[in-house]
Amino acid sequence: DGSAQSLLVILNDVLDLSKIESGRMSLDNSDFDLWTTIEDTVTIYRYKAEEENLKFISEISEDVPKFVVGDSGRLRQVLVNLIGNAIKFTEEGSISVKCLLDSVYDDEYTIKFYIEDTGIGIEEKCKSKIFEKFTQADGSTTRKYGGTGLGLSISKELSELMGGNIGITQKDGPGVIFWFTIKLSKSGFADELS
Ligand code: ADP
Repeated sequence: DGSAQSLLVILNDVLDLSKIESGRMSLDNSDFDLWTTIEDTVTIYRYKAEEENLKFISEISEDVPKFVVGDSGRLRQVLVNLIGNAIKFTEEGSISVKCLLDSVYDDEYTIKFYIEDTGIGIEEKCKSKIFEKFTQADGSTTRKYGGTGLGLSISKELSELMGGNIGITQKDGPGVIFWFTIKLSKSGFADELS
């Protein structure tokens, strides 16, 4: 039921944060299919967005590698947090998820994601503090939108653990654009196939 489910989400968030803070969050380092991971995650939210009459756009740039080494579960978690927020804070309009190859250095890719919405947006003065634990842009949003204010701080910690960063991009018009980067290693798997 809904309340048991949200309790589970909160519990997992609190456990993740305490793991991160005690320095015990270890990342998986396995081969995975980046395209499929992104597409699978996005598909779930496409349905959710369309149920709420939001247009949903997703795009993976062609130069994004397919086989990589890293932690697909933690990547998925950051995507879920940001896309979930985009839908939660958007009444009408569209959600867009974009993935591109930012840079390649030796055996490492830097992959960048943009999650854009046309929702309520975030006041300039709140933009840095929402990445802090238990912080919401407006104290009263808790009542209307629920949530604990942990998702973004976990996303920030996870993207940093994965060698990247997270932030907000200036946007014309309503809504907000979040971006994050992560580093992923090249996979030997790709060579075996070619
Ligand atoms: P939660 O969503 O549980 O409150 P988060 O850490 O995910 O916690 O987000 C913190 C706060 O940042 C939210 O409460 C909200 O005020 C703001 N926020 C996050 N994403 C968005 C968004 N896409 N549009 C508007 N505000 C947002």
